[in-house]
Amino acid sequence: MSAQNDQPQRIATRVIHAGQAPDPSTGAVMPPISLASTYAQESPGVHKGFEYSRTHNPTRFALERMVARLEGSALDEAQDRTSGGFAFVSGMASITTLMSLLDAAAHVVSMDDLYGGTGRLFRRVLAGSQKLDVSFTDMSDAANVEKTLRADTALIWVETPTNPTLKIADLGAIARAARAVCPDALLCCDNTFASPINQRPLEHGFDLVMHSSTKYLNGHSDCVGGVIVTNRPDVAERLRFHQNTLGTSMSPFDAYMTLRGIKTLDVRMRRHNESAGRIATFLEEHAKVDRVVYPGLASHPRHDVAKRQMSGFGGMITIFLKGGVNESRAFLERVRIFALAESLGGVESLIEHPAIMTHASVPPETRQQLGISDSLVRLSVGIEDCDDLIEDLEQALR
Ligand SMILES: *Cc1c(COP(=O)(O)O)cnc(C)c1O
Repeated sequence: MSAQNDQPQRIATRVIHAGQAPDPSTGAVMPPISLASTYAQESPGVHKGFEYSRTHNPTRFALERMVARLEGSALDEAQDRTSGGFAFVSGMASITTLMSLLDAAAHVVSMDDLYGGTGRLFRRVLAGSQKLDVSFTDMSDAANVEKTLRADTALIWVETPTNPTLKIADLGAIARAARAVCPDALLCCDNTFASPINQRPLEHGFDLVMHSSTKYLNGHSDCVGGVIVTNRPDVAERLRFHQNTLGTSMSPFDAYMTLRGIKTLDVRMRRHNESAGRIATFLEEHAKVDRVVYPGLASHPRHDVAKRQMSGFGGMITIFLKGGVNESRAFLERVRIFALAESLGGVESLIEHPAIMTHASVPPETRQQLGISDSLVRLSVGIEDCDDLIEDLEQALR
């Protein structure tokens, strides 16, 4: 069972086996947690391919090969040791490492509605330290992307669906526009909200995929991490160098936890997709709800694009309640099964208020422009019994 042979397998099989082989010394079916920081050498420079754990770690490598296979990287182990997969201490560490590939003052085109921490990194750190020139635009409209691209654009950063307004960007259209205007630009999609079960950006012509594995990949709200996958050998080589140089690589324990979580990714995503679809429909019909945003609803402005590029619509729902901050607060205090907490993508259902919680760091005028109002509430639908979840929302809305 080599990593190369499992490429043609379907994704529900890959989440169990991709990039994994029983441990050669014991036959253990799960890669052991390799905690050693250093590895003995027979003679100076003669070793089994492992020198120092920041650089080489078998548990981390197993996770990296797995996610590379799930995202469909074209690289095999002969071209890159982990087939183009790289795991980091957090989603933010993965983005920081990727951004370090860019030259000073590079031009970046970015989605305007972004994970709060990514926007903060671009605006408040890299705009200063790296003099990065970031143009934010609403990429759900391809015309905006074309207007913003420049011949010297170095990176295109897309999130789709976005956080928290669930905008959908057409990955294929963006890739075609970028290849025409700036063929050297790197195209990266933050695929955290969709997971590779629902959407695989490399298939749409992207060079890189990023995940906060804290969310759906690990799925159990007990481990922070990030993963990047590329299918370009030159980019893989540079990422490996930067991951090791910056020291942002994921710990073996976290790699073990995340790999364990991924084994159920397919079954979990099926339930997230199904329950969120039912709940979005329930909320759309509810008198106390002003508007529901969910890519799977026909009312979503880019439902057609979502249907084309996604095989499921995920567990994230955004709603606008009737009333203002007081009504939202009362609703959020009354839910019982949904936990009032930041983060998303775990087995348990969470609910939150972006304007006060996750997106408090977004400047108020930007929040207003993006439509992150005081009546906006974000739900991360877990895998509990969906009837219980609907009853919980019903009693809280009442
Ligand atoms: C959580 C998240 C991140 C950041 O990841 P961490 O693991 O929290 O560092 C980036 N992008 C999206 C879409 C996220 O949801």
